[in-house]
Amino acid sequence: MSDNALFYLTGGNMPLVSHAEGIYLWDTEGRRYIDGCSGAITCNVGHNHPAVKQAMIDQLDWVAFSYRTQFESQVALDLANRLVDLSAGDLEKVFFVGSGSEAVESAMKLACQYFVAQGQPERSRFVSLSPSYHGSTLGALGLTGYEPLEAPYRQITLGSIKVPSPDLYRHEEDSVEAHITAVLEETEAAILEAGPETIAAIALEPVGGASTGGRMVTQEYMEGLRSLCDRYGCLLIMDEVLTGMGRTGTWFAYQHFGIAPDILALAKGLGSGYYPVAAMMAREELVDVVNSSGGFMHGHTYAGNPLACATGLAVIKVIDTEQLLGNAVEMGTYLRSHLDQLAEKYSCIGDVRGLGLLQGVELVQDKTSKTPFPAEFNAFEKLTRLARERGLLIYPRRSLNGIKGDHVLITPPLTVTASDIDDIIALLDQSLDAFEQLVS
Ligand code: PLP
Repeated sequence: MSDNALFYLTGGNMPLVSHAEGIYLWDTEGRRYIDGCSGAITCNVGHNHPAVKQAMIDQLDWVAFSYRTQFESQVALDLANRLVDLSAGDLEKVFFVGSGSEAVESAMKLACQYFVAQGQPERSRFVSLSPSYHGSTLGALGLTGYEPLEAPYRQITLGSIKVPSPDLYRHEEDSVEAHITAVLEETEAAILEAGPETIAAIALEPVGGASTGGRMVTQEYMEGLRSLCDRYGCLLIMDEVLTGMGRTGTWFAYQHFGIAPDILALAKGLGSGYYPVAAMMAREELVDVVNSSGGFMHGHTYAGNPLACATGLAVIKVIDTEQLLGNAVEMGTYLRSHLDQLAEKYSCIGDVRGLGLLQGVELVQDKTSKTPFPAEFNAFEKLTRLARERGLLIYPRRSLNGIKGDHVLITPPLTVTASDIDDIIALLDQSLDAFEQLVS
């Protein structure tokens, strides 16, 4: 019998974590790592933050858990109202859950129940992008456009209608507009083919995360998607599980584009790694319709418990008082300029993209033709290992069967300073140097 009962993809080969502080983590051998990716783009306010810890302890002294059908909790009300404020009133209702997948799942179910209540039960299909990542539970996985994760479960996921994600890297500067128009036309054609009366919602990550390495879209694209939803009577779901809570320099990434979703999924940075807390936010009109049809038939035991909500409130307060949105913009620009310099130095960097402190680096075998490394070369894994050996954590992703290049995300906590970024860049520089030696 193995002495490791844990069952993860990493096969038990990771260092044992000891403790963490700010942007650093240490393993039990005393090695220090810079958290260049906030874990899984989660620890937005950094590790061991005294204000978050204190708020959690204070809440524990009152009550950790109360069940939502038995009690309201002031911290849940406060967090919900605060989130509505942060959306500047675009989204007026909040439903708490415990993870990003649950938030996406809730968004899908709210959309579905809304149309059932409206007498349009046939509106039950979702349109999502390929590639994309929306979570690991069956509904969210059905939205996900990422072959290696989907394939084993295809028989038991609903499966959405997949449309191409914009890919600005592989379309020359002067044809971006034409590319966006083509992608929008393809999206519209897919809706028409399925029958617009069957579509409940279009779902997307406003800035790409794990599956696309910081894939950007344009204003025209966002406006185009919004108007497709309006034209065909379906809803727009923004999956801001990764991009929300200041990661891109605004509270929510959709706020860069001047359009609003009907439903939004939020997780990761809301609990900032201190406690699992996630939310679905929605327009009031949808919730009113669902409530008048008997209420939202959905919920999880731990959802919106006082400890979770106290954690979320404390995280928001830290982002506010430490002016971390401004820091995400300033440090994001600083990080980006250094990554662009690395891209000039290393032929394996094909593209650098992203917004604020969500920056992705795409690795290519040939910079001129933008040819990806072969999937079996596992370039993402090699670079990530080289960085970890040098004490830098970055977030990797597998190439999509050679269709898209491997990439890594550089997404440090929003508390990061210019000198922290200098350290991250120095270690990344060394890692890329070792990577290029490996591939030469
Ligand atoms: N949606 C997006 C955009 C994500 O990046 C993730 C996780 O990486 C999820 C959903 C799923 O969140 P969780 O892992 O908390 O279930």
